Amino acid sequence: MNIETSKSLFQEAEQHIVGGVNSPSRAYKGVGGGTPIYMKKGEGSRFIDVDDNKYIDYLGAYGPIITGHAHPHITDAIKKAAESGVLYGTPTSLENVFAKKLKNAIPSLDKVRFVNSGTEAVMTTIRVARAYTGRNKIIKFAGCYHGHSDLVLVAAGSGPATLGTPDSAGIPAAIAEDVITVPFNDISSFQKALEQYGDEIAGVLVEPIVGNFGIVEPKEGFLQQVNDFAHEAGALVIYDEVITAFRFTYGSAQQLLGVEPDMTAMGKIIGGGLPIGAYGGRADIMEQVAPLGPAYQAGTMSGNPASMAAGIACLEVLEQPGTYEHLDRLGALLEDGIKNSASSYGIDVQVNRLGGALTLFFTDKEVENYKDAENTDGEKFASFFKSMLSKGVNLAPSKYEAWFLTTAHREEDIHKTLEAVDQTFAEMTGKNHN
Ligand code: PMP
Repeated sequence: MNIETSKSLFQEAEQHIVGGVNSPSRAYKGVGGGTPIYMKKGEGSRFIDVDDNKYIDYLGAYGPIITGHAHPHITDAIKKAAESGVLYGTPTSLENVFAKKLKNAIPSLDKVRFVNSGTEAVMTTIRVARAYTGRNKIIKFAGCYHGHSDLVLVAAGSGPATLGTPDSAGIPAAIAEDVITVPFNDISSFQKALEQYGDEIAGVLVEPIVGNFGIVEPKEGFLQQVNDFAHEAGALVIYDEVITAFRFTYGSAQQLLGVEPDMTAMGKIIGGGLPIGAYGGRADIMEQVAPLGPAYQAGTMSGNPASMAAGIACLEVLEQPGTYEHLDRLGALLEDGIKNSASSYGIDVQVNRLGGALTLFFTDKEVENYKDAENTDGEKFASFFKSMLSKGVNLAPSKYEAWFLTTAHREEDIHKTLEAVDQTFAEMTGKNHN
């Protein structure tokens, strides 16, 4: 495959943009480096790169693109918004329309506020929880990613319930000390953390269905227990649904699982591909936020008409009957095909799948927390990723990320993808292609 134009663009980018990219994972560090492919056109489930190679896309821009690239309904909405001016700094009626649409879809949202990214949304829920409870500490779960703000970019030390250490230079140790990290799906570690720090905990932050060390579902009853124990300790429960809102159902993971948080952070899909974030929750908690309350949060771009219009249009596509059934059906085809192929070559894999999102782990052991995901074979994943890319399948360049299907994917895409999977497994094992 000729990728000469991508190569020269990346070399040029490295002269001007730090690391050549505007978000680190795009530099393929998760798969041992290489030249990132520069795409020039997305249409439905497909990409064309700058060297005119064609790809089936499962990156979905790390989640937001659930209706396929350049969906005509969303594109029209964005064009229309652009023709009337993309940014006013005054309220617009679109904000009301969208807020009502989100509230109708997710019952735990009495009040919402739009921001510009998932990072902003999560960061603000923590501030609001601190304002509401008058406490400082938070509990989070190891391996969950909640954006790049100081407080959540903190890793666990060793042991079941540990005070955090900064995961990035530039985060003061004192900030990390306000974060307690426990393993996902481990209720006794969570209880221990509460026993030790319970009366200092403002909020418990969790991805209700994890998307950041692969797709990992909570064990039966885990989230309900998190809710009950957190509330007993006087802490708020915050769901980070930046990946999960509108991913598995028209609504959020909380509805699928039948548990309600006090606050929810969202992003990605709800912007239809334009920058967005949103947070919301119980009215008495949200009323902590300025201009009603003492917790300050603002944004020049927040609620801008283009993001609102794209988000509304995206939800209009998703609310069509059959959307999530389609994603689930294709997801199941992909899962079965990968598993069958792997077993025919004697390769140990786990496919963690929910609906139209899945993660392929190279391991023989179930993955239910971050440690399990860490212990999967990264080198095998890197070879798999590079081989799939060379065969025209664009995946996320990390063993921890999900493959995202879109409403634009068709059975033909899945068949082509499975053909590439089979060839890749043949190459990885040196066996004959089935
Ligand atoms: N929370 C979760 C669960 C995420 O997956 C992400 C992004 N991958 C974020 C927050 C941060 O969102 P953004 O990149 O829009 O700031």
